[in-house]
Amino acid sequence: MAVQGQELTDDAAVAEAAGLTVTLVQGDEANHKLTTPQDWQRLSSPFTPVQTRIGQGYDVHCLIEDEQRPLMLCGVQVPSPLALKGHSDADVALHALVDAILGAIGEGDIGEHFPPSDNRWKDCESSAFVAEALRLLKARAGQVVNADVTIIAQTPKLSAHKLAMRQRVAELLEVDASQVNIKATTTEGLGFTGRKEGIAAQAVVSVQMKGE
Ligand code: MG
Repeated sequence: MAVQGQELTDDAAVAEAAGLTVTLVQGDEANHKLTTPQDWQRLSSPFTPVQTRIGQGYDVHCLIEDEQRPLMLCGVQVPSPLALKGHSDADVALHALVDAILGAIGEGDIGEHFPPSDNRWKDCESSAFVAEALRLLKARAGQVVNADVTIIAQTPKLSAHKLAMRQRVAELLEVDASQVNIKATTTEGLGFTGRKEGIAAQAVVSVQMKGE
């Protein structure tokens, strides 16, 4: 647009030509221009709502006397004369974690995906179950926001292993260790965990995924 022989290329130039003072401020790439219906159409995809979801998981495995069988918790081998009984490596904490992920994305439970009747999972490392749950999450353009795991065990003592567990779970979930928390507690000698008959685990996972 030309006014009095002056080429005015934008509204700031128009304002200046009208004698107004124009002040420049730092822009923001997230501040999109929304003028025409086409602008809205073009930008609607990035504005697809992102859902934040949570899932919870719970699992129990029997403790047995087996010095040959490693006791696996959160993907970490914990020295112990007792081991967990199970078809896979019986990592009760990772099983709770997998159920929490599956719960968050509406994918049923670990038994549906990895039935104990299937020999493919015999003595299988439970990290493989986490990898599959993560694959299902990624298929929904999802990612883990945070995971919080509680291991309920009278024995063995777990405090010395919690950091390694945190790092291993973060690695499996492809997140930073700050997004993972591992807690261990006893039941003060009460119940099956207190009698050292088994170990229980609970997990809560929050995920962000594409809205459906
Ligand atoms: Mg289990």
